[in-house]
Amino acid sequence: MATYIFGHKNPDSDSIIGAISLAYLKNKIGEECVPTRQGIVTPETQFILDKFGFDKPILKEEVAGENVYLVDFSDFAQAPKDIEKATIKGIVDHHKLGDITTSAPLECWIRPVGCSNTIIKEMFDFHKIQIPSNLAGMMLCAILSDTVIFKSPTCTKNDIETSKELAQIAGIEDIKKIGMEIFLIKSEVQNASPRELTTRDYKDFKIGDHKVGVGQLEVVDLSIFDNIKEHLLADLKALKVEGNRHTVMLLLTDIIKEGSQLLVVSDDDNLIQSAFNIKLENSQVWLPGVLSRKKQIIPFLEKTFNWKRL
Ligand code: MG
Ligand code: MG
Ligand code: MG
Repeated sequence: MATYIFGHKNPDSDSIIGAISLAYLKNKIGEECVPTRQGIVTPETQFILDKFGFDKPILKEEVAGENVYLVDFSDFAQAPKDIEKATIKGIVDHHKLGDITTSAPLECWIRPVGCSNTIIKEMFDFHKIQIPSNLAGMMLCAILSDTVIFKSPTCTKNDIETSKELAQIAGIEDIKKIGMEIFLIKSEVQNASPRELTTRDYKDFKIGDHKVGVGQLEVVDLSIFDNIKEHLLADLKALKVEGNRHTVMLLLTDIIKEGSQLLVVSDDDNLIQSAFNIKLENSQVWLPGVLSRKKQIIPFLEKTFNWKRL
C-alpha cells in the first residue's frame, strides 16, 4: 500500500516540492510513496515545476484509512479534515510543533531551519542517496522562496550551505538571480481575484480558544496593491465571517524594503494592537523588519491571546 506525502492546505512551494522530493527519497530507499497536495498550486510553484520539468502532485483531500507523511506542518488546522483516521508514519517540518498527535511511534524530522527542503536534503545525505539535478534545482527554489532569498529571520547557516550544495548539483551559478525570478512571478497579482490573493498563502491557527487566520503576500514592490487594498480588506472581513474567525490578518510583505503592511480584521483590535505594540489606522499598519509569519507574527499572537486567557 502506497504512503501519501503532502504539505499543508493552501500549499506553497515548500509543501509541493517537499512532497515530491521526500517521495523520491522514500521510493529510492524502498518505501512506495506518492506525493499529493491539498489545494491549488500557486503561479510561483507552477513556474518552478515548469522550469525543472516536473508535474504537479495529484490532488488528495481525504486520507482516512491511508498511511501518510506530513511535510511542512503539524497543525490540525492545516491538515485534511479526516487526518485522525489516517496513520501518520512521519513528519518533516520546520515550524512550531502543532497539535497533531499519533497513536504509534513515528519518524520525526523537525528542525528550526528556514525550509522543509533543507531538512529533506539532510535526509538524502543520511541515506546516502544522490539527488537528481532537476530535483536539486527545485529544492533550491523552495529554500529561496521560504527564506525570502536568505533575508528572512528564519534563515539559518544550514539553509545557505544546503542551497550552495543544491545549486552545485543543479548546475546553477547565480543563486540570487533565480531567487529574484521566483519573487517577480510571486509579485504578479494583477490578474488574481481578492479571494485568490487573500488565500494564496493563508494559514488558520487555533490560538487559545480562537480561530485566527494569517495570510501573506511577498512581493518586490507594495505599490501594486495600491488599487486593490480596499478589496483585500473587504475580503478579509468576508473570510472572518465565513469561517467564524476571531481575527483575520494579511501581511503585504515588501522583500526589498524588508517590512510588511499588516491588514487586520478582528473582534478585538486592542488585543492585536497590544500584541505588536502598534496603532492601527484604517485597519492597517506598517511593520518595519517584519518578513516572517511564523517567527514575527504567530508567537506574539499566541503570547497575547494566552495571556488574556489566564
Ligand atoms: Mg509552507
Ligand atoms: Mg516551509
Ligand atoms: Mg512562506
